[in-house]
Amino acid sequence: MYGEVVATERLTPQLIRVVLGGEGLAGFQPSESSDAYVNCFFLPDAAPYGVPFDAESVRELPRDQRPYPRRITVRAWDPVRRELTLDLAAHGDVGYAGRWALGAQPGARLQFRGPADGYLPHPEADAYLFVGDESALPAIAVCAESVPAGRPVTIVAEVDDAAGEIALSSPGELSIQWVHRAGRADPDALLADAVAALPRPEGVVSAFVHGEAVATRAVRRVLLRERIVDLDHLSCSPYWRRGYDDEQWRAIKGDWVREVNAETPQPVQAAPTEGAPSISNGRR
Ligand SMILES: Cc1cc2nc3c(=O)[nH]c(=O)nc-3n(C[C@H](O)[C@H](O)[C@H](O)COP(=O)(O)OP(=O)(O)OC[C@H]3O[C@@H](n4cnc5c(N)ncnc54)[C@H](O)[C@@H]3O)c2cc1C
Repeated sequence: MYGEVVATERLTPQLIRVVLGGEGLAGFQPSESSDAYVNCFFLPDAAPYGVPFDAESVRELPRDQRPYPRRITVRAWDPVRRELTLDLAAHGDVGYAGRWALGAQPGARLQFRGPADGYLPHPEADAYLFVGDESALPAIAVCAESVPAGRPVTIVAEVDDAAGEIALSSPGELSIQWVHRAGRADPDALLADAVAALPRPEGVVSAFVHGEAVATRAVRRVLLRERIVDLDHLSCSPYWRRGYDDEQWRAIKGDWVREVNAETPQPVQAAPTEGAPSISNGRR
């Protein structure tokens, strides 16, 4: 499946919105979950082919010609216009996904598989806590929009500085705490420190903690150690890891997830395979 860029928007210096449309999306089946993602294929400069391509045959090509897969959350699907919105984080002049988003022009094509999914805010929770960095902001935005009206929703989000903050909305009673990493020596601890300093929520909390691996692990430890969230109501996923590109990270991610699991009796969520529902937090 593939989409053609119909519009782009620079939401912040780091976050770029890309809206895809066109006939290549004819078979797109949206997911119900809040963190549904598509596995996008970014083409290297040396690719002697364009989109759409045959995924099986490009596997036979030399490494420098094969596409680079990157998972990107479905920020929105418009069933009437049949348009798919993705928000991609750019990180300077590195990264196939980030650089593609920075240069995306109307008419450019992006091939992908999916969507796959996992988490839905638990409909019967008393409160919601959503934590992450720019990579998780698209999923956090959908989570916040998906909770029942009137329930307390706390978002703790890490961005570079005030220019990285985006508008977020919810039918719940929304409280947003932005954490700025610019000028901070140890960004790994910022989210965990902010979460530890929150007023203790009442009742059953449904939490979603996705983003940088070391940072999400630190948040998870705080939530479980302080018994703020039960493991059953915690969705935690290491989307990426500072200092590793996605190929390097995926090569060791399984061991990392096993190590994190060993810290508690039940498993942390690994990203699911496309099309296969994964661990959710209570809904299914
Ligand atoms: C289920 C799932 C859903 C995701 N949804 C989104 C999404 O909606 N939007 C989104 O932007 N990302 C999302 N991500 C994360 C994204 O797939 C990774 O960040 C990916 O590594 C980006 O690819 P890249 O080609 O830009 O950079 P890579 O080539 O993978 O990495 C290049 C360098 O950039 C660093 N880097 C990677 N990501 C970031 C970042 N976010 N901030 C700072 N430095 C970074 C790496 O550590 C490396 O040093 C998701 C990941 C998963 C598993």
